Amino acid sequence: MFSDQFRRGESDKSKLTGVRSSKIVSTLSDVAWKAFQSVNKRLPEGEAIRPKWAPGPLLKSYERSAPPLGFPRETDSLCPRCVKEVRTAVIDGTTSLESLMNEHPGEIKAQIVEENGQVVMRKTCPKHGLFVDVMATDPAFLERIESLFFGRDFKAAEDSHVHKHGTSNIKFGRGAVLTVDLTNRCNMMCNPCFMDANQVGYVHEPTFEDTKAILDRAVSFKPRRQVIILFSGGEPTISPDYLKAVAYAKKIGFYRILAATNGIRFAEDIEFCKAAKAAGQHGVYLQFDGVGEEKNKHRGVGNLFDVKVRAIENLASVGIKVTLVVTIVNTINNDGIGQIVEFAARNIDKVQTIAFQPVSFTGRDEDVSDELRIKQRYTLSGMTHDLKDQLGGRMQPLRDWYPLSSYSAFTSVMDMLQGADAPWGWSSCNCHPNCGIFTLAVVNKKTGEFSSLFEFFNYEQFMKDVAVITDTARGKKLSYAQLGMAIMRNFDASKAPEGFPISQIINLFKPSSTNANSDRNDRMTSAGQDTTSDNWRVLCVEGMWFQDLFN
Ligand code: SF4
Repeated sequence: MFSDQFRRGESDKSKLTGVRSSKIVSTLSDVAWKAFQSVNKRLPEGEAIRPKWAPGPLLKSYERSAPPLGFPRETDSLCPRCVKEVRTAVIDGTTSLESLMNEHPGEIKAQIVEENGQVVMRKTCPKHGLFVDVMATDPAFLERIESLFFGRDFKAAEDSHVHKHGTSNIKFGRGAVLTVDLTNRCNMMCNPCFMDANQVGYVHEPTFEDTKAILDRAVSFKPRRQVIILFSGGEPTISPDYLKAVAYAKKIGFYRILAATNGIRFAEDIEFCKAAKAAGQHGVYLQFDGVGEEKNKHRGVGNLFDVKVRAIENLASVGIKVTLVVTIVNTINNDGIGQIVEFAARNIDKVQTIAFQPVSFTGRDEDVSDELRIKQRYTLSGMTHDLKDQLGGRMQPLRDWYPLSSYSAFTSVMDMLQGADAPWGWSSCNCHPNCGIFTLAVVNKKTGEFSSLFEFFNYEQFMKDVAVITDTARGKKLSYAQLGMAIMRNFDASKAPEGFPISQIINLFKPSSTNANSDRNDRMTSAGQDTTSDNWRVLCVEGMWFQDLFN
């Protein structure tokens, strides 16, 4: 592999840590790339491979479709009041469940428009009147994010036994996360709780056979891509089937198996952490509302921050990866999100990712008053501005954030490089650009100092470069060579933090040779050697916008 070649023979003395030598490598890569492409682009494109896991040949970048984007635009939406009426009628038995699939109850059109410096959604139900909510507090941010959408995945195929929900049917790809709720019980009773756990007056838990059937169906259609299996609830670790469910997901071939957890069980019981790791658990989405007791106390459990810290320690000690999942409620904890990034950077040996999730008014919060909803509504664009302000400008809204789906530009090269016989496609998140965003920060593991990767790595150009590699399809060797050039030519050593070596930017994008089971910070670890190039890790910061009935 090109990156192995690059690092072969690298010793502390010869390492390309200096700005000058890194700059030379980048410049030479740029020259080589341009020379290669001057010929490559003139030749007829190579034929795309047809992997076993896919419904057809790998898509070229220009074959990918996109939903309507930009604003003003019209979109499909729901009346918040009609939906509740229909749901009640289904539960009462006065309306059939099938009506949800066939009759489109509650569906109305919505207009997405810019007004008064915001992007808002307006919709009018003939019965219940006008509803207005905010989608973005910075139109320029939303416009940029939408412009960077890389395109949809394959059309889903052989999936009629799975996707039959009516208008909300999945039509493209398979998503990136399969959430499997194991129970509606919980050992907490928060507000907010998107599931209304513990309060509906009955226990709802699938049998183990039900859970197996859900997982089996998940591997039964194409594209057969790796996805995150997220056991959720309620609190999934309370389910008596939890460890069995993890082991079964592992057995049938998934390897990113996670729990969406409040962390109490993992904090209390190190033996349970070990058992979860042994069963195949890869990571956790750990509920984490802020640094310190104050930012967690609205959950109603004393010493909750101490519990979180203990859970992180226990999980990391057994090798389970930690993602901090932060529900951001405007006026409650949005003023502490920069501190969370700093906390994660200081604990980069234990925390891989932060997933910021602006509150969605579902479950326990669906009946929130209009006044409180407007006060607590929080947008992804607002989040990027708060992070800029709270982190002294280290994360910039219009420079450092990309749609989550843009990463599929990179994974499409990986799909090509692993060949037609691979059993699984790479995980590929093609979510709508209004739905998920991310940025990457490089962190000095010794000092906790961090900088945005995109300050010194031209990710936008990199996406374009990898599209050229997949579209021209020149076979493995030439594709690896081009990928190496693309990574190195987009690295600007003069803007990188002092001491950041070009070899680490290569490790960051270096794939596992056989499949996608490859963690970025494991790749950046130099096999136990305490060298200066091993000072760097990467923190992923994501923003996930979950829709509710109003937006
Ligand atoms: S820990 Fe999660 S599932 Fe449990 S009550 Fe709180 S938000 Fe709901």
